[in-house]
Amino acid sequence: MGVHGLFSPSAMSQKPSADISRPSASRTGRGVRPPAAKRSLGQNFLVDSCVARRIVSAADVTPDDTVIEIGPGRGALTSHLAMVARRLIAIELDDELAPRLREKYATADNVEIVHADAREVQAEALLGPGESYKLVANLPYYAANPIVRKFLAANPAPSVMVFMVQREVGRSMAAQPGDMSLLSVMIQVYGTAKIAFSVPPKAFRPAPKITSAVVRIEVYERPAVSFDTAEAFFRVVRAGFSAPRKQLRNSLRHGLGLPQEAADAMLARAGIEPTRRAQTLTLPEWGALYETHRDSGEPGG
Ligand code: SAM
Repeated sequence: MGVHGLFSPSAMSQKPSADISRPSASRTGRGVRPPAAKRSLGQNFLVDSCVARRIVSAADVTPDDTVIEIGPGRGALTSHLAMVARRLIAIELDDELAPRLREKYATADNVEIVHADAREVQAEALLGPGESYKLVANLPYYAANPIVRKFLAANPAPSVMVFMVQREVGRSMAAQPGDMSLLSVMIQVYGTAKIAFSVPPKAFRPAPKITSAVVRIEVYERPAVSFDTAEAFFRVVRAGFSAPRKQLRNSLRHGLGLPQEAADAMLARAGIEPTRRAQTLTLPEWGALYETHRDSGEPGG
């Protein structure tokens, strides 16, 4: 169906057919073997349906929801989402899997398969005016950060994001002051992030070497820090993390190219001890630091 197809009640009662990792010869007419997993596209397919159900339930998908799924692959999450969501838009980059999914869901009025790179897609172009959505994904690890950050900063952003990533990446996204990183700030400016649960390698084929985690982000209506542009705010945060083991007075001096007195004055005005390290700062402290830099008249402020 087309990109802006409407919901048909019949689609809601549609039972998912078997996972397309095991397509029947009669249905596809192309033999029974699915294409081999492509390492270059981060293809570790979920084979544990219990985990698939837990991911969908972590997103609280209801029959009122529009869901964007990134990387439907062989359909492990797609079939569960298609059963519940009012509208499911699934974005798949793989040239072999996208047509297979299209074929499988050709008669499902609530499912649209978009053959595209999720890093390039504009959410706005896929949605109706004012249509809110949730994002659900088992993300390809190589592109997880850019995809998550792109959708968090999108207009419109999803109300909720539930996705699987490497556990270490998930932990960094959900970290608290003391353990924060540039990634933690990049995520938490836009929403509260929590690890929902961990997933062992044996839940996938091929099995990755590392443990994964499902992250749930409750996205704010407005970013937690009010900045003129995200770019200007993150210039300051990036500078702070440019040498994470160094004291902030040094990392800001290097990262922003400031004289030492200017870096010290910036921290003093923001009420932050100059000997603190970037990983200990809270979001309001990053906000204060950004504002003092912006108001300082220093280059790049
Ligand atoms: N959702 C399936 C599952 O849980 O078994 C597949 C997950 S697999 C980890 C990641 C999927 O994302 C693959 O199907 C891969 O082809 C797709 N993919 C990789 N890069 C992508 C991109 N840039 N945009 C959209 N899909 C992508």
